[in-house]
Amino acid sequence: MPELPEVETVRRGLTKSVVGQTITEIEIRYFKIIVGNVQEFRDRLLGATITDIGRRAKYLLFHFDNGWTMVSHLRMEGRYQLRAEKSEFDKHVHVIFSLSNGQYLAYRDVRKFGKMQLVPRGSELNLKSIAALGPEPLTPEYTSEALRAGLSERRKSIKATLLDQHVVSGLGNIYADEVLWQSRINPQEPANNLSATQLTTLYQAINTEIKRAIDAGGTTVHSYVNADGQKGTFQGQLQVYQHTGEACPRCGNSIAKIKVAGRGTHYCPVCQPLNS
Ligand SMILES: [Zn+2]
Repeated sequence: MPELPEVETVRRGLTKSVVGQTITEIEIRYFKIIVGNVQEFRDRLLGATITDIGRRAKYLLFHFDNGWTMVSHLRMEGRYQLRAEKSEFDKHVHVIFSLSNGQYLAYRDVRKFGKMQLVPRGSELNLKSIAALGPEPLTPEYTSEALRAGLSERRKSIKATLLDQHVVSGLGNIYADEVLWQSRINPQEPANNLSATQLTTLYQAINTEIKRAIDAGGTTVHSYVNADGQKGTFQGQLQVYQHTGEACPRCGNSIAKIKVAGRGTHYCPVCQPLNS
């Protein structure tokens, strides 16, 4: 599943390749990807030019010169592909935008969970799903006080709390495991039971980890590739995620894998004990 660093990498790649392009045709092969009226979606985007591409957490925001914004959520497996020929797209491609430079921008999604929705520019942050997101790492809204206040209201596990996006947005399973290991916090620790030191360390670790992952072009696990078909390189810097049974880089004991919040969770039972 793409997390914040992967979506940011996609955004940067798409910005270089499609900003300034006008949509000359749209082929929609699987209607359920589109939220709302499919015909309106087509009509509004035909002839529109992409002016810039923004992002909020894991949502891509394609802004058009006619005042519409296409909100695109990649969900589990969604990705964008840019090709010179339509024949290069396989059966998992569900939406194809023909661009004025003769290229094709396609949305491919094996699981078909992704969504695209058109909204008037400026209203995208009011969409229920986006408005519910907590502050994002590396922005002024994400402060140690905001993190502390958000966590203090939650009794469920810190891992589940990081995954649910309400206190801080953008971390998925990979980066949640990594930042908890760095902060020596047990994934099952109740979110409102962190020590002051753990809170400070976690706050920093989230910013640092997200920045390092963006700099590395994201993490490639499973099928993630950016818009150019390139893989991220951050997987080489992961310390615990998918390192089950290997030595903890800090204390040498074995990395364990358990289920927390329904997700496979990697941690070191020795240097990430539960607080008493
Ligand atoms: Zn350890």
